[in-house]
Amino acid sequence: MCEQIYQNPPATIAIDGPAASGKSTIGNLLANKLGYISLDTGIMYRAVAYKAIQAKVDVYDGEAVSDLAERIQIDIRPSTAGDGCQFDVIIDGEDHTWDIRSPEVNQVVSEVSVYPRVRNAMTELQRKIAKNGRIVMIGRDIGTVVLPLAEMKIYLEASVEVRAQRRYIEELARGKKVCLDEIAESLRHRDEIDSGRAVAPLRPAEDAIVLNTDDMTVYEVVEYLMGLIARR
Ligand code: C5P
Repeated sequence: MCEQIYQNPPATIAIDGPAASGKSTIGNLLANKLGYISLDTGIMYRAVAYKAIQAKVDVYDGEAVSDLAERIQIDIRPSTAGDGCQFDVIIDGEDHTWDIRSPEVNQVVSEVSVYPRVRNAMTELQRKIAKNGRIVMIGRDIGTVVLPLAEMKIYLEASVEVRAQRRYIEELARGKKVCLDEIAESLRHRDEIDSGRAVAPLRPAEDAIVLNTDDMTVYEVVEYLMGLIARR
């Protein structure tokens, strides 16, 4: 099969949106199609939250969490395990790929993500990774703060019910025992903090393409976005 040539593909693509809106799946598929790298920045905030829990740092102690975020070493590599996760996440030399997805981390990740020094440390790393372009970067504040000059900005939204249902099915498929109401509650909790924080709140950039995916499959979204890229 011939690889499609795009005349003028955007060198940097920002994908933002609330928890479980399909950002990572869609971002990774787009990156694969374009031959770009992808970076799911949620991993970095999750790594900080995980490390805080592990080090028994109070997540409401902004100074202590910020000190930890400024020291943390996060290495994100293509997965070696074939266990359904696209990337291995190495934190200070140890593999914590699955630990950062735990309910305990979900519970506090938005709390640690409000601190300006935490955000500055992560934003600086993200900009370094993006400096050569050919990247799809996924997060909450990529189009608004991290890469305000990104050539294409996408904001994915979906109702909390649809997002909870999708996450529920994913977790069941991984053999986890999960409760739909608890997932919905955890998403609402994170949405509220992520949208309400003073620094880099979750919101679409003014020049973002906003897509509601309630009635769209992942493949429909990817086809739609690839169509936009092909017509540039
Ligand atoms: O995308 P994911 O659900 O893995 O992100 C986990 C959390 O990390 C989010 O709920 C948010 O609090 C934080 N985050 C952020 N800014 C980003 C990416 C994630 O604040 N760019």
